[in-house]
Amino acid sequence: MKNKIIKNTLIITILTIIVTTLSSLLIISNNNNQMIKENLSQQMDNLVINYENDINYFDNNIFNTPSRITLIDETGLVLYDNKVHDEILENHNNRPEIISAYKHGRSSIKRYSNSINEDTYYLAQITSTNMILRLSISENTFMDSNKTSITIMIFIAIIITIIATILANILSKKLIDPIVSIDLNHPLKNNTFNELSPLLQKIDDNNKMRSEFSANVSHELKSPLTVILGYAEIMAKSDIDQKRNIKFSNIIYKKTNQLITMIDNIMQISKLDETTSEINMEQINYSKIVNMVVSELDYKIVRSHISVKIRCHNVIGFGNETLIHELLYNLVDNSIKYNKTNGSIVINIKVIDKMVNIVIKDTGIGISNEQTARIFERFYRIDKSHNQAIKGSGLGLSLVKHIVILHGGTINVESALNKYTKFTIDIPVGD
Ligand code: ADP
Repeated sequence: MKNKIIKNTLIITILTIIVTTLSSLLIISNNNNQMIKENLSQQMDNLVINYENDINYFDNNIFNTPSRITLIDETGLVLYDNKVHDEILENHNNRPEIISAYKHGRSSIKRYSNSINEDTYYLAQITSTNMILRLSISENTFMDSNKTSITIMIFIAIIITIIATILANILSKKLIDPIVSIDLNHPLKNNTFNELSPLLQKIDDNNKMRSEFSANVSHELKSPLTVILGYAEIMAKSDIDQKRNIKFSNIIYKKTNQLITMIDNIMQISKLDETTSEINMEQINYSKIVNMVVSELDYKIVRSHISVKIRCHNVIGFGNETLIHELLYNLVDNSIKYNKTNGSIVINIKVIDKMVNIVIKDTGIGISNEQTARIFERFYRIDKSHNQAIKGSGLGLSLVKHIVILHGGTINVESALNKYTKFTIDIPVGD
């Protein structure tokens, strides 16, 4: 993360520097060039005045200017040139700036110079004596004037990059250090960025849930174990008759079974809790699974004289077969457990709007409005004393909800006390 912050800061800084430098150079070089041209034009004004006042002005003065000064007569003969020996210069009447100056009075042009072999900027002006006075400056002079600006800009860019690197280092350290030193066991005691508060709150909630879960697990495991221990103790210490022996053994058998179911559920929940990667999804046949679940629970259905109606025709969706089996098993098992003798269960599974819609409705004892929100909590059982006769761990619906969430679905419950309970689940059909 630290390296990423430094890298990103540097990329932004360097890009900003490049854009700023290039645009500044463009503006500066434009201004420089404009200035050179203006100076040349001013020099031209002065030279024309001086020459028109004194015809021998060029013969009598030495011109050591950066610009080249040329005086040409109307036949194109070079009369004076301060840079190139005028005798070696050919006739200049065909030069574009000269032709243009004769036409417009003053003309400026950029072209390649055969005399000095460089790209050159020319300014030509006709004098009152019908001579042409020409000033020229090579492209290199323009370049030279920009060189200093380029050097300064590059130097500034390097300094800014160094400062940015140092600042990025300091900034990333300031950002990372408080995060690295967070005490995850006491997340709310950390004095760190406000932006991290929701995350720390979540970690704290998670910690609380974990410790609550552990406490609940220990407590729930302890009660059947205490019963088992008590009866085992009596059986070991006292000489009991055959009838009581069978009764006590049955209790121990039931409690041990209850323990195994609970441990199974706990292990499943823990496993699902740890599922960080995506669960293994495949094409599954809901009709096949629901029929299997009902036949597995058939002995309970027959025992309680309950009628079960399944409406599910070839519903295919995407999901994890084991988990969907677990989900349906828990819901159907509950609708049997919390039903009344001679009650009924209707299971409806169909596809609506690209969702597998599962509805399980029973004619059982129902759940009050206040309780419906809590039944998905771990170890939550409505009215423990009332439910004493009905075996359960309070983990089934929590597991069901977990599975629904893992499948990207939703679960809802609707119920009326002593009338009915209806669970509705929607799971995306998937691709
Ligand atoms: P349990 O192992 O106790 O059945 P669950 O998590 O499956 O645990 O259910 C939590 C509680 O919700 C149950 O103890 C029961 O009181 C209530 N409950 C669940 N399903 C039904 C239902 N179909 N009808 C009435 N009450 C139900």
